[in-house]
Amino acid sequence: MNALLGAALGYAARGIPVYPVHWPRPTPGGASLACSCRQRQACDRPAKHPLVRHGIHDATTDPTQLERWWSRWPHANPGLATGIVFDALDVDGPAGLAALRQLTRTANLRLPGPLVATGGGGWHHWFTPTGLGNRPPRGLAHVDWRGRGGCVLAPPSRHASGGTYRWLRDLDQTPLPEVPTALRALLDPDPSPTTGPAVPAWPASFGHPYGRRVLADELAALGRATPGHRNRTLNRCAFKVYRYVAGGLLDDHEVTLALTTTALAIGLSAAEVDRTLASAHTAGLANPRTVLAGPGPSIKEDGA
Ligand SMILES: [Zn+2]
Repeated sequence: MNALLGAALGYAARGIPVYPVHWPRPTPGGASLACSCRQRQACDRPAKHPLVRHGIHDATTDPTQLERWWSRWPHANPGLATGIVFDALDVDGPAGLAALRQLTRTANLRLPGPLVATGGGGWHHWFTPTGLGNRPPRGLAHVDWRGRGGCVLAPPSRHASGGTYRWLRDLDQTPLPEVPTALRALLDPDPSPTTGPAVPAWPASFGHPYGRRVLADELAALGRATPGHRNRTLNRCAFKVYRYVAGGLLDDHEVTLALTTTALAIGLSAAEVDRTLASAHTAGLANPRTVLAGPGPSIKEDGA
């Protein structure tokens, strides 16, 4: 059986709706690849747009329909509707990977679930559905979320660059995990003040133990900030924490990421957070604070 049809039937058997997508076709002479649509090299979404009129709205789990489509277009890429059986975190190349790595390191996250290497040099992490639509996670550049109403290409689709989508961990190797809280907090709409924000817990995984305790306390205080006081609280907490960065007790980037994530999770806008952190950063770095190990069990603070 055609491997593309076989894969499409396999996804459908798991309840994942599938639809046919254009594919990369060698140009005359075979020197390069172009979209299988009439636009050929002029196509602006080569090998990524649907062959069927209604796109993901035509996606189906019906094997007869899939056989009909792949007998008409045997080279079609299998597109999958997200938001039903799974959602996907779409990590776009090395820049997206760097942003995600910083989050996973700071929040001590593991992402052990199914993982696809895309044909374009990115990655798709699959999770159980969140009920959320497509959106970029706040604060993570070059990373996207595919949920309700969204779609992804799946192995063994081929990318216009010549690469092939392939499983790094497939659906038989590992179950679909739930989205970790720290990541989910970046996806949720601005939390309602009545229900309280879902503030990610930042484990103490970096920096001096005293600095880590200060950071944890300040993040907790920030998480409790009530509407009308959030920006001021962010400024106060960030100033305090950046003083320990200046004193060498905490890492600048990880502190900024932790503060940004928590501030966004309590509903501050990205513009407010950027502005406030920039000013607190300048002020904090100008006023270094550190700890000196004394002769006894107590910690003596310097520069208070
Ligand atoms: Zn095209």
